[in-house]
Amino acid sequence: MPDTIQIVEVGPRDGLQNEDVILSTDAKLSMITHLIDAGLTRIETVSFAHPDRVPQMADAEAVMAGLPDRGDIDYIGLVMNERGWHRATATRVNEVNMPIGASDTFNRKNQGVGSDESLSVLADIATEGAARGLPVSATISTAWGCPFEGEVPVARVVEIAERAASLGVTEIALADTIGVADPWATVERIQAVRSVSGHIPLRVHFHDTRSTGIANAYAAIQNGVTVIDASVGGVGGCPFAPAATGNIATDDLVYMLDRAGFTHGVDLARLMKVSAELEGELGKTVPAMLPKAGAFPPNGSDGA
Ligand code: MG
Repeated sequence: MPDTIQIVEVGPRDGLQNEDVILSTDAKLSMITHLIDAGLTRIETVSFAHPDRVPQMADAEAVMAGLPDRGDIDYIGLVMNERGWHRATATRVNEVNMPIGASDTFNRKNQGVGSDESLSVLADIATEGAARGLPVSATISTAWGCPFEGEVPVARVVEIAERAASLGVTEIALADTIGVADPWATVERIQAVRSVSGHIPLRVHFHDTRSTGIANAYAAIQNGVTVIDASVGGVGGCPFAPAATGNIATDDLVYMLDRAGFTHGVDLARLMKVSAELEGELGKTVPAMLPKAGAFPPNGSDGA
């Protein structure tokens, strides 16, 4: 089993995109800067979605322009189509991620076209990304279930993964967009995808909609996955998936990994300050458990 886990912080994008309160550009920059201070080094900062469709992300260019110029931090931009790709490459994103729906219906709701059409866009941008030295990763959304089609066959997820792998993406993420996975289905789909993904690293993205998110993260780690998405405070959801709730909380994931002795580079006390700030900005309690219960041991050090 690996002893180092990389946490990809998706709060500034997946977290904020479904909130009623739209944070100012300055508030987003402060949030991201504090996430970096807490030790996060790979952060999904923006989405280049159409501003009419996702107004929370309308200032993507301004956010990217205002971020600290740090060679040691990867800023990930989400793109949905060619237009998003062109916007992204005009900024200083270090990595581009493109979602592909395992469910064709979800892909149409989320991206306005079928999954096949998104795959052909992915083919173009993966090629351009390779030429530019800009990593392009793919996220297979609705990989454990779709809010419109219901169950998504494993074979469909494997098919999308195989096609994405053949396009030369730098990483494949499996996303439980609506929080319906369980730990056993997590293992099943990771193993199935691994049979076609070759040397390409896998990442997982869980939503804690039905309280299985952190258990799914455990199952993924036990099966050798070392890269996990999480959002600070557990905020978020998908505007195009009814009843979607937040990602697994970075706070809760860090706590679990700390207790188990994994290395991940994130300071829980500093991270929880970002959660507290976010509660103030959003004017509500965040879903994460750690801000409610507090860390353990209480003074943050063994035997204190
Ligand atoms: Mg998500």
